[in-house]
Formats: sequence, structure tokens, C-alpha cells
Amino acid sequence: MMIVSSLDELKEARRLLDGMVGLVPTMGYLHEGHLSLIRRAREECDHVAVSIFVNPTQFGANEDLSKYPRDLERDLRLIDPLGVDLVWNPTPEIMYPAGYQTWVEVEALTRSLEGAMRPSHFKGVTTIVAKLFNAMQPHKAYFGQKDAQQAAVIRQMVRDLNFPIEMIVCPTVREPDGLAMSSRNKYLEGDDRRAATVLFRALSAAKFAYENGERNAETLRTVMKSVLATEPKASPQYVSCADYDTLEELDVVKGKSLLSMAVLIGKTRLIDNFVLK
Ligand code: AMP
Repeated sequence: MMIVSSLDELKEARRLLDGMVGLVPTMGYLHEGHLSLIRRAREECDHVAVSIFVNPTQFGANEDLSKYPRDLERDLRLIDPLGVDLVWNPTPEIMYPAGYQTWVEVEALTRSLEGAMRPSHFKGVTTIVAKLFNAMQPHKAYFGQKDAQQAAVIRQMVRDLNFPIEMIVCPTVREPDGLAMSSRNKYLEGDDRRAATVLFRALSAAKFAYENGERNAETLRTVMKSVLATEPKASPQYVSCADYDTLEELDVVKGKSLLSMAVLIGKTRLIDNFVLK
């Protein structure tokens, strides 16, 4: 497994990989969710590259950049048995040298949901992903359904900027009690960990209603909000039932749709979603 940091090292290492290359972009502190993307890439590609970079430009001024969990040695130990060929772990100075001034922005899709709560977040995401794509030149790139809006925004960027890359979106990996795996789950202490299952319970209740014929989107949002209201530690930031592709809020559910939410559990901000097909 080649482990590189600088752009020159990356170029040299990338040259050694011929055939189909799959890229799994991550911010590190890896868990089973990340590993599921790596395994899928391993099955589908000749070579697998993983990037580990806590991207400062996707964090807002009051967010958790400085305390975001980092442990490269642990990450490399987890990756090692999976047959990864190349790990790229650049520094912020490599990705954003002094004088940096170029950004990639997707418009309408980034205005709702996460984009409404975190105004500059997706500008940072699309910029770093475009830079990772340009430097790594993968044939396929693997993302998680856990970050549904991120996947939709990157799909739009790939289409609009003609990146010759196939995007693969993989299912959300969950803990046995339903909590979606996330590096931020590390922040959940004591009773917050139990309270965090309320997102899964709220989504499950709305999905149950949908499966029993409910198609009124406002009713589905109300079902989710009423389950969230049973948990005193939960402060919802948004609760959505939207079109899967446009992310516009629906009146009536028809076609592929997305139930999603962002909820503060104590001080920890969690997101989760279910796809309705
Ligand atoms: P992150 O390190 O949080 O930026 O995540 C890197 C990639 O892993 C993104 O494409 C995420 O959507 C994906 N991911 C994170 N958590 C999960 C999960 N629980 N299941 C599947 N994919 C995930």
C-alpha cells in the first residue's frame, strides 16, 4: 500500500496504477461505513485509492474543524487488510496553498437542507472533490447514501463539468440499533448515544406510514417530527420529505423521494435519511 502526501508523490504513485481506478474520498477516522465503500471499490476496480483529508473549507466558522476526530495510524490499520493500493493524505497547505482563489459551486441543489443550515459547506465539498478528482484521475468514485444531498450535489457537478467519472452511491451502514455510522458519533457521550437512535426511529415511522399507503408529504414530515418530539435531548434543525433528484419539498410523494433530517442531540449534530422508492 503506497501512502503519499505531496502532489508530486501522488502523481508518481498514480502513474503506477494501470486499469480501472476507484477513489473513495474520506475525512478519516474511518468506520464500517467508509470500509463498505472501500470493499465495493475493491470488487469493481483494478486499483483502489483512498483519500484522507479533513477539508477545512467545508466547515463553517462555528463548526467542529479543530476537534474533528483524526487518527491516521488507526485509519491505516483498518484499511491495510482491504487491498487498498494508494492512500493520499495531503495537508491543508498542499490543497490550499497561499493565494488559493478558485472555487466550484453548484447552485440550486445546495440551497436547501444542509446547504440552508451550513451556507458555505457545499462550496467547500465540491471544490475539494473536484481537486481530488483532478489529482487522482479515478474512473469511478464511491460515496455514501448517508450524505444524500452531498451525493446529489456531486452527481450534478460531475454532469455539469463533464468529469469522466462514474459515481457510485452505496447504502448507509448502521449500528445494530439503527444509528447511522458517522465519525461524529464519537462525540455522543452517555445518554446522548441512546437518544441518537431517535433519528432512525423517526425515519422508520415515516417509512412505515408510507408503506401503508400514506402519500401526503406533510403528514410524513409530521410523523417524523412527532417521534423526534418524544426525545427531550433532540432539537431538530430540519425535517424533510423531498424529491430525490431536485431535493425540492413535496406535497405528494410520487416517484423516488428522500426523507431526511438534521437533529442536534445535545451538542452533536447528526443527519440521516431514508430513500422511498
Ligand atoms: P466522511 O469521512 O464523513 O466525509 O465520509 C466519507 C464518505 O463515506 C462519504 O461519501 C460518506 O457519505 C460516506 N459515509 C459516511 N458514513 C457512512 C455510512 N454510515 N454508511 C455509508 N457511507 C458512509
